[in-house]
Amino acid sequence: MLFRFENTIADIDLEKTKSYHKNKIIYSPDYCRCSGCKNFKHWTKRCNPAIREAFRKIGIEDMRYFSELSYPIVTEYQNQEAILYMGMYYVVGTIVHQPENLIQPPEVFPELPDYFQYCISDKHDLVPDDFPRPALQLDFYAYLPWIVGNSIEEL
Ligand SMILES: [Zn+2]
Repeated sequence: MLFRFENTIADIDLEKTKSYHKNKIIYSPDYCRCSGCKNFKHWTKRCNPAIREAFRKIGIEDMRYFSELSYPIVTEYQNQEAILYMGMYYVVGTIVHQPENLIQPPEVFPELPDYFQYCISDKHDLVPDDFPRPALQLDFYAYLPWIVGNSIEEL
């Protein structure tokens, strides 16, 4: 299914993407228990539903199933304390380079709030060995609040 991400059009295999994530135990929500991951997973439950919906559209039914998450950084966003997360999700698909030849108009990946930035590409080096090819990598960086019980300093 075709999706437009700003200036990039990607053809995403939703079924393969969904079934990979569904069957992958290593990405289970309990996989990493560090407080940074825990905070991110909590955030995915409480975040603006438009963000979850955008990911659901491209086959990532549960945002807790990220592929990689860098160690979060305590920083500021709009003069407030925030945690900077950088991470990635994988979907099965290809980048379509000639939008003028498309027969079907692509679905639009919705614009997300400023604090959640992303880009999609077919350049990837950390894609899991067993991930179906061709793979696309969706990189994101997000300034999120700290919402789990323990203090931010424990990161
Ligand atoms: Zn972790």
